[in-house]
Amino acid sequence: MEKTPFKAESKRMLEMMIHSVYSHREIFLRELISNASDAIDKLYYKTLSDNTLAFEKDNYYIKVVAEKTTRTLTILDTGIGMTKDELENNLGVIAQSGSLVFKTENEAQDGHDIIGQFGVGFYSAFMVADLVTVTSRALGSETAFKWESSGVDGYTIVPAEKDVVGTEVILKIKASTEDENYDDYLDEYRLRSLIKKYSDFIRYPIKMELTQQRPKEGSEDEFEEYREEQTINSMVPIWRKNKNELTDEDYENFYMEKHYGFDKPLKHIHISVDGAVRYNAILYIPEKTPFDYYTKEYEKGLELYSNGVLIMSKSPDLLPDYYSFVKGMVDSEDLSLNISREILQQDKQLKLIAKNIKSKITSQLQSLLKDDREKYEAFYKAFGTQLKYGVYSDYGSNKDVLQDLLMFYTAKEKKMVTLEEYVSRMPEDQKYIYYASGETYERIDKLPQTELVSEKGYEILYFIEDVDEFAIKMLMTYKDREFKSVSSGDLGIAADESQEQTAEAANENQSLFDTMKDILAERVKDVRISKRLKNHPVCLTADGEITIEMEKVLKTMPNNPNIKAEKVLEININHEVFQSLKAAFEHDKEKLRLYTNLLYNQALLIEGLPIHDPVEFTNDICKIMV
Ligand code: ADP
Repeated sequence: MEKTPFKAESKRMLEMMIHSVYSHREIFLRELISNASDAIDKLYYKTLSDNTLAFEKDNYYIKVVAEKTTRTLTILDTGIGMTKDELENNLGVIAQSGSLVFKTENEAQDGHDIIGQFGVGFYSAFMVADLVTVTSRALGSETAFKWESSGVDGYTIVPAEKDVVGTEVILKIKASTEDENYDDYLDEYRLRSLIKKYSDFIRYPIKMELTQQRPKEGSEDEFEEYREEQTINSMVPIWRKNKNELTDEDYENFYMEKHYGFDKPLKHIHISVDGAVRYNAILYIPEKTPFDYYTKEYEKGLELYSNGVLIMSKSPDLLPDYYSFVKGMVDSEDLSLNISREILQQDKQLKLIAKNIKSKITSQLQSLLKDDREKYEAFYKAFGTQLKYGVYSDYGSNKDVLQDLLMFYTAKEKKMVTLEEYVSRMPEDQKYIYYASGETYERIDKLPQTELVSEKGYEILYFIEDVDEFAIKMLMTYKDREFKSVSSGDLGIAADESQEQTAEAANENQSLFDTMKDILAERVKDVRISKRLKNHPVCLTADGEITIEMEKVLKTMPNNPNIKAEKVLEININHEVFQSLKAAFEHDKEKLRLYTNLLYNQALLIEGLPIHDPVEFTNDICKIMV
């Protein structure tokens, strides 16, 4: 029979699956069982809204059968089943194909990472089987269909016989090789322990026939074998269990089974509330930033159950945007089952739950910061940017919740510090919380503008992300201390003797500065004596609210309103260069023009800003060399 080829991406995924050296082949069983469980969930949900269907609890189960002689492993369920079209569309195409494209273009080709990061549901069957047969009869259908594939070269679908609604997946287990022992997946006791390990909390019974031993009748020391069907899993959903009964591994397995992420969770939060609103929740903070996290495609949300029945797989109303990285589920008996998305949004109970969840996450993050700094820093590395967006968005209405979760690097401490730590270390005479912006820590280290503040021994927060300065502008103050850019006009550092001299020098040299300003025309607002420079000859700073870094960020935005910083060229009068400027001003105006342009361009370079005319700049340098 003619085979239907897989779509290109699915084919690539399958190839990787078949050839990859993947250390966790065993997870295929978890994947197939959780598909089976989802299918029963769907059926159960249908029966709740359709009076003609009855849900007989005993009729719903998953069964695992291993047959050594034929090398087949069967996973069958009494779930909702699939029509011919569904077999075609669900099994012929990889669900997360978008992520596959992203991954293969950006990362290693060996497939290990892809499988590890995304999980692949049904396709994982091909890690252990060289032939996969799915026979399925959909709810409401009299006929069944059989989908079959032995891998990359495609699949077939033909009509089939099946007495009851549901799905049967038959895997023809690969022959063992020197490196891989596939026989394990036909061994009843091994399978049983895999079910216990990965699928214990599935709410429907997972049944297996097992060979048991019992004493032979009439004999004391002789035993006989007999077969008995057993339910392997405990069936109590994990969120209904007592926290004390659960291990970290249980929570990790649930995370994997649910595909909340394909990393390991950094932290889990198990909540049981029995108050004005009753609910159980298991929430996770992932360890790694999902690849699409900072894109429009990323959807936040938690799974929502009403008394054990899944009613929504991603309820966005349960999480504020700034905690959009949180994964997990909520189950509440107080929510109506047949509730529509629109009504749900207005639901008072749901709002209460969301509020409660938000404060739980906040307090858990706070205690992580307090009790396990290393873990918190790992979390912050993955999701700190989102917290900063949170401070900035909604006109700063969440800043009180978030400000104590923020961290910034400082060169003085050589590590991340919280605002609280910064303020608690401030010397008495320090008026402001200082920050410096730049592309990298190394570049900020070299910024001339930091010289005075550093010399005073004050700590400087390093801002290297676009959002940093905007978030801080929204905060305005922390514990009544204002934030101040090291490049801003008034640094609030008391004038010492040398600075009085500066005032005098400013008067004396005013006409020099005026001429320089004329030379630079609209490029700068002013040319001034610097109070902050110690060793460098020049730097650029900005008057007013918009700093140079902010201008850079705004420039990259769509519909850029062309907001510009009011740039000021600061000159260090204690630098030898200043003497040359003075001399040129008196004797050679052309030279003054040359020097002024050179210094201005140097200041631009230090700031990481583009030079308007690089050719002219290099020509200018040549002029002073000859
Ligand atoms: P995912 O489960 O992540 O969507 P899978 O590749 O595991 O991806 O499965 C694809 C789809 O095939 C499922 O979403 C579901 O609609 C369907 N499916 C898989 N297994 C079953 C099953 N046992 N019964 C009914 N439908 C199934």
